[in-house]
Amino acid sequence: MTKDSLTNASVLFEKKSQTPFVSFRLRHFDDLTHDGHHLPLLLEKKHGIHDHPGLARKVDPQWFDVGRIRSWIKTCVTTHGETCANPLKITPATPELLIDVERRCIVSANNQTRFVALSYRFGDSVPFCLDERQLQELREDSAIDRPDVLEKLPLTVKHAMSLTAALGERHLWADALCIVHGRPVGTAEQLGQMSAIYATALLTVVADDGDGLTGLRGLPEISAEPRHIMQEHIPFNGERLVLWDRITHHVTSKGAYHQRCWTFQEFTMSARKLIFKHGRVHWVCQRCQWHEDVEFEKEPEFDLHLKAMLSGNPNIEALGLSLSRYNQRNLTYDRDALPAISGFLTVLSRTFAGGFIFGLPEMMFDGALGWGPAFTRKGLTRRTSASDLTPGDLGVTDLPSWSWMAWKGPLVFPSDEVHPITEWYTGNDLRGRTQRRIDSVSNNTTVSPAPIAASTSFTMPPQTRYLFAKTQKASLWAYRSDPPEAKSTARDPILKLRTGSARGAEIGELHLQTDDQLRSWPKTPSDAKDDGTGRNVELVAVSRIVPPGTEGDLREIRITVLWVHWEDGIAYRQACGFVREDAWRLLDLADVDLVLG
Ligand SMILES: [Zn+2]
Repeated sequence: MTKDSLTNASVLFEKKSQTPFVSFRLRHFDDLTHDGHHLPLLLEKKHGIHDHPGLARKVDPQWFDVGRIRSWIKTCVTTHGETCANPLKITPATPELLIDVERRCIVSANNQTRFVALSYRFGDSVPFCLDERQLQELREDSAIDRPDVLEKLPLTVKHAMSLTAALGERHLWADALCIVHGRPVGTAEQLGQMSAIYATALLTVVADDGDGLTGLRGLPEISAEPRHIMQEHIPFNGERLVLWDRITHHVTSKGAYHQRCWTFQEFTMSARKLIFKHGRVHWVCQRCQWHEDVEFEKEPEFDLHLKAMLSGNPNIEALGLSLSRYNQRNLTYDRDALPAISGFLTVLSRTFAGGFIFGLPEMMFDGALGWGPAFTRKGLTRRTSASDLTPGDLGVTDLPSWSWMAWKGPLVFPSDEVHPITEWYTGNDLRGRTQRRIDSVSNNTTVSPAPIAASTSFTMPPQTRYLFAKTQKASLWAYRSDPPEAKSTARDPILKLRTGSARGAEIGELHLQTDDQLRSWPKTPSDAKDDGTGRNVELVAVSRIVPPGTEGDLREIRITVLWVHWEDGIAYRQACGFVREDAWRLLDLADVDLVLG
């Protein structure tokens, strides 16, 4: 420990062996009772002195050092090998179109073309929707420099083009100029391939600061505006200490960029990321994390559940965690809930055999249908349907109520053993002429991980919106039961289910999904003799859940039920819950040819 003095203050420094920074405590002389402020400080590296222990690197407060970014790319490509080149072991994707940043036009790609990808959020920029006619025009040299094109192109795309050139690369993939709109089949294919495109790119430029309109600030000779960062220095024994804000090194979450649905798969699938965040530039690959303002490297932050799934372990709980993170993000258009994740699901279809229908894994379909809201204080919000879609738009006009993606918010899949009670079919035709049987293995605990090889192919079934099954329905009395200790702001969105009437036995519960539902079920006053606030709900059975070690004990086995409302013979999910199997069997059950929409 060393001690120095500043004007009117004492300073204590501690070097902790396990951390690369000096802990600093500032204590004012006139406040001896106060413990002082702890500030992380780094010793600035003095170049030209052999073995100098400094870890902070002086950076230009306004402009990035593009040479450093080039050296990061070179180091990763030449020394990290296959770990960073193709961590997902996917067959490399060949984008249909790329931007040639030298000829300033759009070109067709071949499977040898090396390219940089761009990930950003639109913000208030108007999406540039490339159509067939524009595509032909933009294939000519310098076509992108035409004033009418430059005017419409988001500034961030323009900057990314110049950055690509400055890094010595020739091709850039950016959605604005590389996805052709207005041709349904081709567009859907490109969307499914989108994750593979990000995974195949040499690197992805992540414009986390700002949006499409702000561009990338601080790129010398590219950006009109500099970035502004402060590195506060403190002179100390002939050296300099730099105040280090560790928050600026948290680069894989938080912020407006990570609240957008579209960026979820772009960020998750990219093997090498060049991230512009907190006014600084950062590198994150599979082996390490580099930051422009420090000399040391860090371990990259990984989502271990996701990593296990991507390497072949079909774990439905881990799937729920990933999808839950996605489903809390925002979309400009609700209809994009499926397209914005279809690339990610396509890649996961190698782990979850049979792929996904509206985000539900086909191999575990019976269990996945029983998804529920994760317990938080925030309810789900029904994603609205869009009636303004024209042929060739990317989205889905009306998300089916049985899919989690129709309800924005956190979700969970059931983790217990699920057994089928019926066979599920799907199709878009209500008369059922073209129904397809869903091939579910149902019992998720018996599926063992299978390592993924580069040759493993993707399988995505058609996204059909109706489900058909022969099952049973019942009507039960439901009332809202919040724990007495619940405060007015707390929520425990559960309805208890009773046989027959307000005085019947309690045999199950429903997990309410939305604030509207909560409002429509007033709490039962604690001094009430019965629950006059309840009413009947229509339930349909979808699967059977056997908690571990309870096989044979009907009191513990549960029937997963959906509370539905019927419209023109089609049932729409309101919420999900369960009824004890022993009690369910004693109910006045009716057989039903269920159509879920
Ligand atoms: Zn690397």
